[in-house]
Amino acid sequence: MPLEQLRFLVPSLRDVLEILVVAYIIYRALLFLAGTRALQILIGLVILGIVYFIALVLKFNMIATLLGVMFTYGAFAAIVVFQPELRHALARLGRSRALSFFAYSTTKSAAEELAEAAERLARSGTGAIIVVEGEVLLDDYVETGTRMSAIVSSDLVSTIFTPYSPLHDGAVIVRGDEIIGAGCVLPLTQFPVTDKSLGTRHRAALGLSEESDAIVLVVSEETSRISIALGGLLHQGVTPDQVREALAHRGRAALALTRAAVEPSPA
Ligand code: ATP
Ligand code: MG
Repeated sequence: MPLEQLRFLVPSLRDVLEILVVAYIIYRALLFLAGTRALQILIGLVILGIVYFIALVLKFNMIATLLGVMFTYGAFAAIVVFQPELRHALARLGRSRALSFFAYSTTKSAAEELAEAAERLARSGTGAIIVVEGEVLLDDYVETGTRMSAIVSSDLVSTIFTPYSPLHDGAVIVRGDEIIGAGCVLPLTQFPVTDKSLGTRHRAALGLSEESDAIVLVVSEETSRISIALGGLLHQGVTPDQVREALAHRGRAALALTRAAVEPSPA
């Protein structure tokens, strides 16, 4: 009976749960890969997979066989090529942060310290760029500078950006309440920036905010203005209070900043 066979198609609660779990794992994996070279390789593999499928359908046997061989050995090659990423992924899984939904926002004290640092840097007219990491890990960018491990403090951040200090050039990267890198080079935005007062520092902040969910603080050396790049948008003339708000309540960061744009606060 056809109707009886149809019963196979009724998903049980367990199937639904399993699909949700798998979807979540794929989502996390893509988030993990976003912006890394692994994602480009993955896209390449998907394209090869599509070619393989088309070759099978059209019965292009030689192409299909060649690609089949490639995939067989490719699996081993992938383990070698992706070794750093795989190691990283496993290490990350073991870290409590990956398992905790609550540690996502920057801790209150770190937000406080960074807001204070921004205010201090702006007052002294010192240029700075501070990246506060979100879900997308930024280790690739840490590698471009000096890796470090220090609890965030306003004093330390101000010291790093003091002109002529060895690490003042480039960005500071913050994970949680820890500075994990300084002197890091960020990718510049590819979009044209019309405002001539926005140089490479602001373009770099925008560039990283396009590629990740990081919150990027910029203090301009030329105008002493604090700006925040988030999701490819640059919010200029942000107050220290708004910096604190955006960092402490990450999920509402954009809202806090939009309010900043609508109601210019005295600062
Ligand atoms: P400001 O308003 O402070 O002058 P700006 O947007 O005009 O900033 P520049 O004057 O070009 O930018 O700032 C240069 C500084 O910005 C460099 O000394 C360097 O520390 C930092 N910077 C420039 N490019 C990058 C980059 N790709 N990644 C990180 N930091 C960068
Ligand atoms: Mg400049």
